[in-house]
Amino acid sequence: MLTGRHIRIGTIFGIPLELDFSWFLIVGLLSWTLAVGYYPAGFPGWTPVAYWVAGAITSLLLFASVLVHELGHSLVARHYGVPVKRITLFIFGGVSEMVRDPDRGSEEFWIALVGPLTSLAVAAVFAVLRFAVAPIEFVYAIVSYLALINLVLAIFNLIPGFPLDGGNVLRAVIWQRTGDPRRATIVAANIGRAFAYLFIFAGIWLVAGADLYDGLWIMFIGWFLESAAVAQIQQLHLREILQRHRVAEAMERNYAFLSADTTLQELADWHILGTAERTFVVRDGDRVVGVTSRRRFDRVPRDRWPSTTVRDVMDAIGEAAEVSVETDLWTAVERLHETDADRLVVVDGTGTVVGTLSSDDVAAYIRSLGPQLATAR
Ligand SMILES: [Zn+2]
Repeated sequence: MLTGRHIRIGTIFGIPLELDFSWFLIVGLLSWTLAVGYYPAGFPGWTPVAYWVAGAITSLLLFASVLVHELGHSLVARHYGVPVKRITLFIFGGVSEMVRDPDRGSEEFWIALVGPLTSLAVAAVFAVLRFAVAPIEFVYAIVSYLALINLVLAIFNLIPGFPLDGGNVLRAVIWQRTGDPRRATIVAANIGRAFAYLFIFAGIWLVAGADLYDGLWIMFIGWFLESAAVAQIQQLHLREILQRHRVAEAMERNYAFLSADTTLQELADWHILGTAERTFVVRDGDRVVGVTSRRRFDRVPRDRWPSTTVRDVMDAIGEAAEVSVETDLWTAVERLHETDADRLVVVDGTGTVVGTLSSDDVAAYIRSLGPQLATAR
């Protein structure tokens, strides 16, 4: 997926909002196609500047509409107790990143369906607004386009295959009727792949008919849908593997205790960093208060070491950042994702610290399972 680097631009309803770099590309591209193609064709006689201003305003309002769509998903998810980590706008629209799947098919059904319903409502608002602004052609043109595109968004998202909202709706329905979320995921992903190939073939057909721009764009969308649907199946397999293994198998057993108020300079002076341990459990008196690693220390510039304490560079331990050795790895990975911690502290049945766990540890463990991974497919 083209989601590499993000810029955080603020929060909305307490949810961080981020722009992917690919978002700037699509806003530019869309403004251009509207300014030189769509608006001049439908509304002749404006100045070139007016076309460009209309193109830019339309692009930004389209993504405002996409944001409202994503807020629909996010707020319903939060209503069901599923935390939302962030909303990201990118080249293909928006995505609400939830830290875990909902517990029930009925919850997933509403979280997914509210997106297209929101777009439909936005389309209706713009459609009504059209009548009010009809005397002003410039505004009328923009509002008409937004009414149409939001309707298209609603219908497109109802396609019943992953990664589209309709795919999640279908998965929720199959999940509820069969009680089998695994089968539901595979069906929704495979239907998603079939639609993705339809897009790719439609794109090839358009390119063959000399419509290069639309053809390539539709192929590109198909390619994105296909890889996202495949990713869903891969995630399902990964989840099944991780659920079969315990934290005890993957955790880093090699750690040392550090006192929270020690400065990094003191650690260096006392040669504590020269020992074999890569990870550290942080104590304040008798209490375990956090976890950190040598890699975190290395990110602090040397001249700040005298004024930086271990506490400044640790993940604080709430109840959330502690896992039992008996916890399955999938739950532990979800916990890492949920808490945004680099590492979790691992405790045994008596509450004694026995190790630490990072996503790198999990990845290394999965790689060590190599042959078993192949048979799990
Ligand atoms: Zn959606």
